[in-house]
Amino acid sequence: MKSKSTTAWSAAKSEELYGFKRWGSGHFSVDSDGFATVQPLGDERDIRILDVVQEAVDMGLKAPMVIRFQDLLRHRVTQLNGVFRKAIEDEDYQGEYRGVFPIKVNQLREVVDEIVEAGKEFNYGLEAGSKPELMIAIAMHEGTERLIICNGYKDLDYIRLALMGRKLGKQIIIVVEQLAELDDIIRLAEETGVEPMIGFRAKLQTRGEGKWAMSTGDNAKFGLNTAEILFACEKLKAAKLQSCLRLVHFHIGSQVPNIITIKNAVIEASRFYCQLAKMGFPMGLLDVGGGLGIDYDGSRTNYESSMNYTMAEYARDVVSNIREICNASSVKVPDIVSESGRAVVAPHSMLVVEVFERINKRESLGKKHQPKQKHKIVTDLEVMLRNRSKLGRLERFHDAVQKKEEAFSLFNLGYLDLENRAAAEQLFWQICEQLARETSSAGYVPEELHELNKLLADQYVCNFSVFQSLLDHWALKQLFPVAPLHRLTERPSVNAILVDITCDSDGKINSFIDLQDVKDYVQLHPLNNKPYYLGVFLTGAYQDIMGDLHNLFGRVNEVHVFLEDDEENGFYIEETLNGSRIGDVIEGVQYKQDDLCRKMKVQIDAATRSDLIKPREGVRLLELYESQMLNKTYLNIERATGRKKKKK
Ligand SMILES: *Cc1c(COP(=O)(O)O)cnc(C)c1O
Repeated sequence: MKSKSTTAWSAAKSEELYGFKRWGSGHFSVDSDGFATVQPLGDERDIRILDVVQEAVDMGLKAPMVIRFQDLLRHRVTQLNGVFRKAIEDEDYQGEYRGVFPIKVNQLREVVDEIVEAGKEFNYGLEAGSKPELMIAIAMHEGTERLIICNGYKDLDYIRLALMGRKLGKQIIIVVEQLAELDDIIRLAEETGVEPMIGFRAKLQTRGEGKWAMSTGDNAKFGLNTAEILFACEKLKAAKLQSCLRLVHFHIGSQVPNIITIKNAVIEASRFYCQLAKMGFPMGLLDVGGGLGIDYDGSRTNYESSMNYTMAEYARDVVSNIREICNASSVKVPDIVSESGRAVVAPHSMLVVEVFERINKRESLGKKHQPKQKHKIVTDLEVMLRNRSKLGRLERFHDAVQKKEEAFSLFNLGYLDLENRAAAEQLFWQICEQLARETSSAGYVPEELHELNKLLADQYVCNFSVFQSLLDHWALKQLFPVAPLHRLTERPSVNAILVDITCDSDGKINSFIDLQDVKDYVQLHPLNNKPYYLGVFLTGAYQDIMGDLHNLFGRVNEVHVFLEDDEENGFYIEETLNGSRIGDVIEGVQYKQDDLCRKMKVQIDAATRSDLIKPREGVRLLELYESQMLNKTYLNIERATGRKKKKK
């Protein structure tokens, strides 16, 4: 990417350019034929992602689609539990790891199912942050060994549900986040005669880094400050429920990029734990919350899209710091709970989008507009384009910008006709291209010339909605790896940004992962009238449920993939979920399909009566309208580009 070499492109170069190995943590690569592949178990078994797309298309499910690799999900559960077990063994820690999966990170039944199943041998439990999530957790949870942790705001019904779980013998812990909750818990415990298991969420002073740093500190939304914890202790004693206090909890926010933050928070929370244990509460559990990151850009730095530690290092640091503080305080070490959500589910799913159009603001450059009478501004620009050598690049850029602006002023004042304006614009872009070409082979590049690449980037229009499928990119500028799924042996010669099909200028992806910084464009292949598929990777955490119905683009199609040695391509699609149909999303905003169809019929009948259309045509129009209700909300690309012949 740095030097524009003339040597042939290769799959290996693509693998390097898009960073598959860096962010893929052993699960993603490029095969020698130029296809992106997934290794769900991190071993030699792999699946060509385009094969999955093709099979889904054959089943009638087109892009945009979400692909879930169920084995990869399972693998992550095993991995997380594995690193904690190993750390506990290595550190000779006298307690256990009893992790829970926070349902809010991905509530989909197949996801939770797979996690509960994979977590069986580790007694891996569930965490809930709301009543609906607790309803799921309490029913999906099996056995009496696994934990259920109840976080979030709680009303009486929430607490009743948790106590119901206790009655069934479940280890279900109500974490007190606000002092008032404790009064409710005490009252309901007395009323029902159930002995609750209680935890305190501590408001730590340790400040996080990254996008969710506000989760701790004095102004954090959740948790008890020191005085409140002492007050809560008194309340428990007064109610003779001392024996119910079992856990200290903290959560320093998601995607913590810096391991130092985690160490500090663990130390602070361990101190809370030890003090409470010394006050005579039974305790036994320390919950370190979530925050374990995902290295989205593969840079292994403390940049917000990355993390400067591994999962194994995280586990070692949690285990060893808790042990040290407890030993120093002569307190028996607790069992360790963590609520890692993002780290468990993010890698297992990806979004596939199809590019169907390239918008190139310089497209018209080829067909030069030669004004009948050239305005001086146009000849000036022509001279600038031709006599490139004399001035420095930056100076030429500034001159060109100034001329372009002058041209616009002249146009507004009525001194420049359309043809001259078009010519001026074209010449400006030509000069920019010329500068960009020279810049790509030069050493140091000033900021403004860097911007040229962004300025010149084409727009690749993709059939999807950022608001439905990648909300965090829009809301938080979160970066996700983006790469073509095929043609990876060809040189990607086009700098592009991705725009979606919503009528919202924010509906785009214009920042991309980069080792040093953030990139303003991604290198892609020229379109060739065949489907061109891009993958957006590591989208398994939060994106599924955060998405909204902007422009009424609904849920996308979804396929769930399992490894299968006996199958031709090494996989099978176990489940398919159809994306929203137009009728579904319309009903979601309170229209009735029947009503709308009836209204159309009235109008068509009226048009027929007044001879605007023939009766037969009226019938056809009504059919067209009604049949659309069953269609998906996204573009039916076959139709949209119907004029071009598509070769298979
Ligand atoms: C959101 C949340 C989590 C999950 O955090 P991740 O960073 O995704 O692991 C865990 N615990 C609590 C209390 C949360 O609110």
